[in-house]
Amino acid sequence: MSLAEYERKRDFRRTPEPGAAPVKKHKKAIFVVQEHHASRLHYDFRLEADGVLKSWAVPKGPSLDPSDKRLAVRVEDHPLGYAGFSGDIPEGQYGAGHVEIWDEGTYEPDSAESGVTDGIAAGRLEFTLHGKRLKGRFTLVRMRGGKGRKEDWLFIKGRDEFARPADVGEKSPATEKASPSRVKTPAAVKPKEVTLTHPGKVFFPDAGVTKGDVFAYYRRVAPRLLPYLRDRPVTLERLPEGLGDGKPHFWQKHTPPSYPDWIPRADLPSEQGKPVAYAVVNDEETLLYLVNQGTLTFHPWLLRIGNLDRPDFVLFDLDPGGVEFSDVVTAAVRLRALLKEDGVETFVKTSGQSGLHVLTPWVAEGGYDEARNWARSVAERLVEALPDKTTLEIRKAKRGGRVYVDVVQNARGHHVVPPYVVRATPGATVSAPLRWTEVTPALDPTRFNVRTMAERLRRMRRDPMTGLLA
Ligand code: MN
Repeated sequence: MSLAEYERKRDFRRTPEPGAAPVKKHKKAIFVVQEHHASRLHYDFRLEADGVLKSWAVPKGPSLDPSDKRLAVRVEDHPLGYAGFSGDIPEGQYGAGHVEIWDEGTYEPDSAESGVTDGIAAGRLEFTLHGKRLKGRFTLVRMRGGKGRKEDWLFIKGRDEFARPADVGEKSPATEKASPSRVKTPAAVKPKEVTLTHPGKVFFPDAGVTKGDVFAYYRRVAPRLLPYLRDRPVTLERLPEGLGDGKPHFWQKHTPPSYPDWIPRADLPSEQGKPVAYAVVNDEETLLYLVNQGTLTFHPWLLRIGNLDRPDFVLFDLDPGGVEFSDVVTAAVRLRALLKEDGVETFVKTSGQSGLHVLTPWVAEGGYDEARNWARSVAERLVEALPDKTTLEIRKAKRGGRVYVDVVQNARGHHVVPPYVVRATPGATVSAPLRWTEVTPALDPTRFNVRTMAERLRRMRRDPMTGLLA
């Protein structure tokens, strides 16, 4: 089977799924199981063979109980590159919904002579999986009558030392224990050095910045960045192939079980009630491991694990949306003056894209709602003071060339880019902490990028935002 059907079903300008471009086959053949929250939750089981991923959709997911035969519907071959895919397929696209990696590893067919392709043709495949969850022997058998385009198969665990009866509390593979607001730190040994793979891969074609440059940048800024990530759930913005049309670009909340045990995770319930294992970046090894996975931007929450109801700072996001940057500067300076009158200390940084972020510690009574209400009242005062230059209008078309003062991000589950992170923006710009004396009409936010920050750090011995976390 070619990848024609895979390609025909998808619009790669809209879905972040990888295209059908050939990818080098692995030294040891791999398998992957992707948890797919489509209109119906199912688990996609894929085996590498003949340069593609032979694929089955398993509605109930694999079972470790040999007597628990699971339906597996054969679907179109997927490109090898799909094995690393997790993210959100947008509404209106084929398979719309969230995809995450549930298990992955290597495998070998039990009979080397008749390969996977022969096995599929014959309707019987036996193989051994070396995954984190799925281990040992499994069989896929085609059901009789199922020779049409949608073939029904059965996915069956072999009887070996990895088999487990299903009645030990194991209902569906999605059932996992949630332990909210606690960072899991298994006694796994961290590596001394995190390996960088594909250092020459171009991440920012316009600036000629490679994955190696981004990795070196994060290693350099780690001591400054880590205090802003510590003990916070983080969403990862991943671009494993760098910037470019059709390249994968996705937000990852859940830390796949295939990531090493030494990566700390915090289980937090999602809106659907299912726990999400957020990565917690408390050390350089975790930071660099995630960078090597193609994470360009870390998006931590405004709160820390252990105090889930309360943000510890408040953000005023000044978003120019096309207006002159000097107007953003005017708004930021005025906002600072306003808060100074109230005795509130403010910190400022570039967003790394087009705006400025003004931040202040949240030390008053109350949680998110109180923090957001306070921020809104301050924003209203700012708009009153600068009605021609600022607005609280969410709709871009109605902003009338004014800077949008965004305070709605001060809400649970929302995140904010911390200082020093790289943005997925041409020029490899970063979110740069500023001294207020730098916030003048001459300020050019594009000056702060992966290439220029090292020199700035050398000159600026002290982080100008350090008081935010004090
Ligand atoms: Mn699927």
